[in-house]
Amino acid sequence: MQSDVELLLKLQVIDYDLGELERSKEYLPDMMNNLNREIEESQKKFDETNAALEEAKVTQKNLELEISAREAELKKYQQQMMTIKTNKEYDALVAEIDSVKNEMAVKEQELLATMEQIEKLEKELPELEAKAAQVKENNTKQLEILQNKIDSIGDKKAEKDALRQEIIAQIPKPVLSVYERVRKGKGSTVVVSVKKRSCSACHKALTPKLVQEIRRNNGIHTCESCGRLLYWDDDNSD
Ligand SMILES: [Zn+2]
Repeated sequence: MQSDVELLLKLQVIDYDLGELERSKEYLPDMMNNLNREIEESQKKFDETNAALEEAKVTQKNLELEISAREAELKKYQQQMMTIKTNKEYDALVAEIDSVKNEMAVKEQELLATMEQIEKLEKELPELEAKAAQVKENNTKQLEILQNKIDSIGDKKAEKDALRQEIIAQIPKPVLSVYERVRKGKGSTVVVSVKKRSCSACHKALTPKLVQEIRRNNGIHTCESCGRLLYWDDDNSD
């Protein structure tokens, strides 16, 4: 035969576990969302870098085409230089040549910057690819574990509910109703041990008479300050 306190302590553990199962219905999907988001983000980072690299390569090609077009123009002007007849023509041609050279210098600067960018992106890309693959592999494993946990909540809850029924059937109704009332107000900590002759939850000092009664395990006693049920724990109470 188990004492009421022993039964209540078991009930308290079951109720805590039931509460955890209920909470896990909220936080397990949240954890899964975070893991999925992490997979998406690392893949997105790779995709964006890949796209930036492709774009930079197109820019490089275009700049190279523009530069060779300018080179052809310069060649053409330099040939015209041979056939110049007047100073006026000469000045005009020199101005054209300077203008094309300036444009070329600008394009060459752009080309250099683009090539540096390509080099940087080409270095980053394999790292991002490896990272994305690793995140996907790790998170997929975690997701499987979490999904299994979610799938088993129903069974676990049914198991705990059955155990709960078994235990409350052995607890006198008035004692159970005190337990339920305190649980509603105070949450999962309902049955608490005596510590230093005080309630270990709210630390209210208990009268010597009450401590004696609790120690003798003489019925159910509540803390007059917080209302929790008190018990004497042979291993920890003092
Ligand atoms: Zn108390």
